[in-house]
Amino acid sequence: GRLPEDATVDRLVHAVHEEHRSVGEGEIPAGIPAIEEADPDLFGIAVVGTAGRVFCVGDAEHAFSIQSVSKPFTFALVCQALGHEEARERLGVNNTGQPFDSVMAVELNDHRTMNPMVNAGAIATTSHLPGSTAEDKWQHLHEGLSAFAGRDLEVDEAVYEAEVRSNQRNRGIAHLLEAYDHLGFEPDAAVDLYTRQCALLVTAVDLAVMGATLANGGVNPRTGDRVIDPAHCQHVLAVLATSGLYERSGDWLYEVGLPGKSGVSGGIVTASPGKAGLATYSPPLDPAGNSVRGRLATTELAESLGLNLFASR
Ligand code: GLU
Repeated sequence: GRLPEDATVDRLVHAVHEEHRSVGEGEIPAGIPAIEEADPDLFGIAVVGTAGRVFCVGDAEHAFSIQSVSKPFTFALVCQALGHEEARERLGVNNTGQPFDSVMAVELNDHRTMNPMVNAGAIATTSHLPGSTAEDKWQHLHEGLSAFAGRDLEVDEAVYEAEVRSNQRNRGIAHLLEAYDHLGFEPDAAVDLYTRQCALLVTAVDLAVMGATLANGGVNPRTGDRVIDPAHCQHVLAVLATSGLYERSGDWLYEVGLPGKSGVSGGIVTASPGKAGLATYSPPLDPAGNSVRGRLATTELAESLGLNLFASR
């Protein structure tokens, strides 16, 4: 099946936005100034079909730092560089059942990372990017994520600087992985790259294009450029299904029936293979760290647009 016709998608996206725009639940996390100061009323939804059609509503063009929503795309680049079997061997593909920045998830898993969607595995992923210097690795990462989005992404320097001052825990995780010989680069440099990666600015439209690229076998439907091979897309999406929504990944799959990834700044990207990428932006988060309005809107759109992978239609 395909997306419904344009007028229907447009109407449904607007209706879901209208329905949830005044939901008042959720908290904006403290700690990173640019995130802490975000307007809680911001709410954008974007849908990009695999044929390149774009539907958006509300604050879908508002820029925010990508944070953890970067993780699947960096993992995709590493799958492309190493092959998805090698990537799985190095990084793991099972849910931790622990908070995203857990050290115990490494300690209790034979001193290995469990998956690339939580910090230990994500920092290790970034460390395995091609390139022998930080500059080379950054160039690969920046060009790769920009190709997913179909435009040149910029770093929010204020977010980067603030996180450099507060990322001791991530540096601890990286040094631990280094001690266990599971890091591909010098630990502080790997965390620095990871921190820059999290500070890249995107909009909901960008995220929907990035999701649509994964849903489209690795070809960006807006630019026509091949970013990664089809075989890697399906493996990236499989990891998102197990681990994309923090400790609510099971609840998410049960409700939405689609692979997705959320981040602390309030973004969520979802991909429906062969059909569309869907993204939401709304800063207030539930206790697991997922955008409240984003989860509500995605749940409804997955149903009404016929995107749920498990529905017998
Ligand atoms: N930069 C954040 C960290 O690694 C990302 C958090 C998130 O979005 O989950 O702590």
